[in-house]
Amino acid sequence: MTVKIVTLGCKVNQAESEALAARLASEGFAVASADTPASEIDRVIVNTCAVTAEAGRKSRQAIRRALGECRDVQVTGCYEKLEPGAVAGTARLTLSSVLPDKPQESGESRLRQPESFSKRQKAYLKIQDGCDNHCTYCVIPQLRGSSRSVPRGEIEHTLERFRASGFQQIVVTGIEIASYGSDCGTNLTELLLGLKRKTPELRFWLGSLEPRWLTAENLQPLTGLIEPEFHISVQSGCGSVLKRMGRRYSAADVLRGIELLRSLFPGCTIGADIIAGFPGESDEEFSATCDFLRTVNLDSLHVFPYSVRPGTPAAEMNPQLPKAVKLARAAELRRLNA
Ligand code: SF4
Repeated sequence: MTVKIVTLGCKVNQAESEALAARLASEGFAVASADTPASEIDRVIVNTCAVTAEAGRKSRQAIRRALGECRDVQVTGCYEKLEPGAVAGTARLTLSSVLPDKPQESGESRLRQPESFSKRQKAYLKIQDGCDNHCTYCVIPQLRGSSRSVPRGEIEHTLERFRASGFQQIVVTGIEIASYGSDCGTNLTELLLGLKRKTPELRFWLGSLEPRWLTAENLQPLTGLIEPEFHISVQSGCGSVLKRMGRRYSAADVLRGIELLRSLFPGCTIGADIIAGFPGESDEEFSATCDFLRTVNLDSLHVFPYSVRPGTPAAEMNPQLPKAVKLARAAELRRLNA
């Protein structure tokens, strides 16, 4: 049987799809490549995303496209958890039943992490899943559960497989990597020092970072050991909006963290995520974020118009801003940072 995997969303989804491909191949399935003719495909698995309403729409679109190609369509990932069976005619694939989080009774000590990474120069090394932060606008904790660290031995084993497959560039990824080790008595800095010691020739990039992790204690030991390209989940440059988002830092904290990055990693590049048009965001609050961006002068900016997610506290907040206002503010932030 030939199986095609369609993946939407974050680096964790990409890593899980690669792990799924490895698992299927080990069970004798042929895993389709981009140029496998539709006529040769027996099953399509769509690994979906639900982080925004737009991601949900794209997931439904991908599922319908798959149904147009093949009658045997399985759906997995965050959107399937959020809206099970949203598109008729599909079956549900529970990823955790195929890719278990914990080593099995069966003695199968090794989790099925990706063997390699097709179509990419950088391999995504998944070190953590879930999140304990419960930001008021986010559905991820509902869908992926509490923060869990991948066992150190498993990470090293996967890294060894990446190295054996010829990868030199590694992106350390997870849902909230700054919380790595909080459930097993270690932390992200210790992990990175250990991985770099074991594989000094490999280059490591970090996935998105929480601003609270930007401290001298966490960063100082890593100078010269990780790639000087950072992406920060800032979300707003206004203290009162950050409070309503449930983000536990101030705009001043972010500024301090970014200055620290620039002093410890001279010449580094810094990007950030910002949400535009959060519920109740006044003109003054929006201009506070604009002032913040002018001050911090980022190298790149991902702007997301606020997207109502079902079951989140922010979905109940008032006033919800009109779509036109959210889009206009998002456009202004992109222009401002261009
Ligand atoms: S840190 Fe906040 S935004 Fe990020 S996954 Fe966790 S709850 Fe969602």
